[in-house]
Amino acid sequence: MGRLDGKRALVTAAGQGIGRASVLAMAAEGAQVFATDINEAALAGLGDGIEAFVLDVRDPDSVAQGMARARPDVLFNCAGFVHHGSVLEAQDEEWDFALDLNVRSMFRTMRAALPGMLERGGGSIINMSSACSSVIGAPNRFIYGTTKAAVIGMTKSVAVDFITRGIRCNCICPGTVESPSWHDRVKSLGEQVGSYEEALRQFVSRQPMGRVAKAEEIAALVVYLASDESAFTTGQPFVIDGGWSG
Ligand code: NAD
Repeated sequence: MGRLDGKRALVTAAGQGIGRASVLAMAAEGAQVFATDINEAALAGLGDGIEAFVLDVRDPDSVAQGMARARPDVLFNCAGFVHHGSVLEAQDEEWDFALDLNVRSMFRTMRAALPGMLERGGGSIINMSSACSSVIGAPNRFIYGTTKAAVIGMTKSVAVDFITRGIRCNCICPGTVESPSWHDRVKSLGEQVGSYEEALRQFVSRQPMGRVAKAEEIAALVVYLASDESAFTTGQPFVIDGGWSG
């Protein structure tokens, strides 16, 4: 018997990284998984039984169509973007883009998924925040940290409003996780600091365990929060950061 038997789970940004690992982990536990991403090609090869389709979390129509199709009991809002720079480098357009993709998108998806969850008597919403948020400040993450702190506030707000109606809402705050976009960030930092190796050393050195996380380690927490094992848990940020903020 799977830990998620009978549950329908929709994942955003499921094409790669943590989203993809979470799709595979939830499917392995018996969930009917709807894997969505803006990049159709990235959704290829997820395997039989996983329904994959394009969903742009910045587009309200796309979100509405996706929720009507999946009717999820579990919503994993994973989409997000990392802006690099301090307050002095941050541009208005970059702020608007990141707030829209990292925060407003979750407002859209939760607002679209909640009525169905309430009608069916319950649901679990899992939002992707970061250790870099209200938990800890990280260098050159002004816009990013702001957006991920907002995710924690939004999560607590939804949790408290629906706590008596079977809806749970939690968020995940990872430290650095190996993913395609993280590799791109290491490459671009490498251009600034002289080499890829030096950039890698800097990223790893802020993780006290001496390594970054694997996406599968975050996916294990997603499975727990999606399952009824976490039935007494709501409104919480779950820090999973290899001791970075400890
Ligand atoms: P990633 O950044 O490598 O992949 C992101 C995915 O999002 C891509 O497949 C992309 O196509 C998709 N995407 C982009 N815009 C979209 C849109 N408008 N609608 C739907 N999908 C869209 O994956 P990752 O590094 O695993 O990051 C996933 C989430 O985890 C993000 O919210 C990120 O902020 C958060 N996070 C990542 C780390 C890390 O170190 N990797 C740490 C903490 C939190």
